[in-house]
Amino acid sequence: MTLKLLIVGGVAGGATTAARARRLDESAEIILFERGEHISFANCGLPYYIGGTILQRNSLLVTTPDQLRTRFMIDVRIRHEVIDVDPVKKEITVRDLVKGEEYRERYDKLLLSPGAEPIRPPIPGIDLNSIFTIRNIPDTLRAEAFIRDRGPKTAVVVGGGYIGLEMVENLSDLGIQVTIIEMMDRVLPPFDPEMASIIQHHLLNRGVQLHLGDGVQSFREQAESTIVTTLSGAEFRADMIILAIGVRPENDLALKAGLSVGPRGGIMTDSTMRTTNPDIYAVGDAVQVMDFVTGQPSLIPLAGPANRQARIAADAMFGRNSTFRGTQGTAILKVFDLTAAATGNNEKQLKALGIPYRASCTHPPSHATYYPGAQGMAIKLLFSPEDGRILGTQIIGGEGVDKRIDVIATAIMGRMSVFDLEQLELAYAPPYSSAKDPVNMAGFVAANILRGDVGIVTWDEIPTLDPATHVLLDVREEIELRTIGMIQGALHIPIDELRQRLGELDRNITYVVYCAVGHRGYVACRILMHHGIQCANLSGGFTTYSYARS
Ligand code: FAD
Repeated sequence: MTLKLLIVGGVAGGATTAARARRLDESAEIILFERGEHISFANCGLPYYIGGTILQRNSLLVTTPDQLRTRFMIDVRIRHEVIDVDPVKKEITVRDLVKGEEYRERYDKLLLSPGAEPIRPPIPGIDLNSIFTIRNIPDTLRAEAFIRDRGPKTAVVVGGGYIGLEMVENLSDLGIQVTIIEMMDRVLPPFDPEMASIIQHHLLNRGVQLHLGDGVQSFREQAESTIVTTLSGAEFRADMIILAIGVRPENDLALKAGLSVGPRGGIMTDSTMRTTNPDIYAVGDAVQVMDFVTGQPSLIPLAGPANRQARIAADAMFGRNSTFRGTQGTAILKVFDLTAAATGNNEKQLKALGIPYRASCTHPPSHATYYPGAQGMAIKLLFSPEDGRILGTQIIGGEGVDKRIDVIATAIMGRMSVFDLEQLELAYAPPYSSAKDPVNMAGFVAANILRGDVGIVTWDEIPTLDPATHVLLDVREEIELRTIGMIQGALHIPIDELRQRLGELDRNITYVVYCAVGHRGYVACRILMHHGIQCANLSGGFTTYSYARS
């Protein structure tokens, strides 16, 4: 019997489901409805088109309706909006947006991939012409035309998340002076403060202004510009505003169909992407996913999960046994010369769930330092204190960040531990890595902590230490202290003098040892421990500390 599959939404999840379904079944009737003009466009490329890195508009079109029709025999209906679902009759109501007519279509299986819409809170002035959200090609062309016609000199980007920061870079590349207004006390919420701080320094160095810990109260027009007033009463004048404060799952059809949605609005599915109605499946930004690490429900609007879920939904509808394992939130971002990447959970998430964890920071070079061009990177690893299982990782740096985050993302999917990271055999030649790859190094440091080879103190614990029982010990060279600075009140003994000067140390005190990045601190701790002196190493050294405290 021929199965009739209707698909709502024609971009990442919808188009992928359609193509996969056809590959699995040559006889199925497949109709794809997209209310916009384009299917399968490159949402992720939109900021780079605005900034001029992607020059051709057509490059944003990954597949055209004609290609889907010809190669995959899909009945593609653009400018057709699905406005209702009758799960009893197994029918949808469609509005042809060109002709203004409505009609009904019967289904055997229905796939919802309507995505998520940018959040536009009902604050005064939100509909001004100078305010843009970036979700699709029409949004992008509107922003591009505004920049071309009005030549804005200044912009405010509201929201310092992934899309916000991509827009910051692309507007800056056009010579526009950008200010970020962010409600949280830092940019990039998926990153812990000491890591986000690295990005913030870089943004400031590139001339971007930051206004953190404050939300927008209103927008108003004034002499060709827009005045943004914040909750604290601060005012910013800008020629153009980008609103990038997050997205909300498009769940209207799901609600009309009586499907269950989670507390944050994501459509609930099982591991085959089937909703609470056995003939309706849902994928992509509109669905609630299970966090692969914690097993908790979550909303993670990313292209990779949407595409993988789409394959699984098609498999399930056509009788194959595939299941979705959950989402890790593996993501990566270019911010001018830096790359920021994360996978798994951050400290805030782990704390909120009461999951015990340990954290370690390392700052390895991207490749052997004797080969020209090595760049530093900061790796923060979060792992279980019981068995070392990796719970999350954040990496910021230049070259090679993408490779390391993908190795660790793979390790998380394999439920590996920091002890496994020590053992990973990764490709090495001087232009690419070191014999001890940054991933191995992160594993060594974390495993040292769990084996008790060294205790650690993290940057946020420093102010909580009792000075009667803890003393900071700086083991760097004199010149480093003079040029880079030191933590106030620290004792200074360079590492190479430590053995000779042990007599200066008090055996009733715990020394919190630090160097630049933690490596000499670890060596110093081992010396002290061998001589019966209590100590702990400052994780990530002065580098992590100074980023976090600035
Ligand atoms: P979408 O791709 O949004 O597609 C949903 C489609 O459904 C829309 O075209 C909509 O018009 C249509 N639709 C909705 N309701 C109806 C209806 N009732 N009838 C008919 N059609 C309907 N992810 C990454 O992993 N990496 C990135 O670098 C990245 N960058 C991004 C940059 C931007 C600017 C944006 C906006 C997103 C980015 N994403 C990125 C997220 C990624 O694009 C999404 O996770 C992915 O597109 C989700 O796929 P989807 O099918 O769920 O939704």
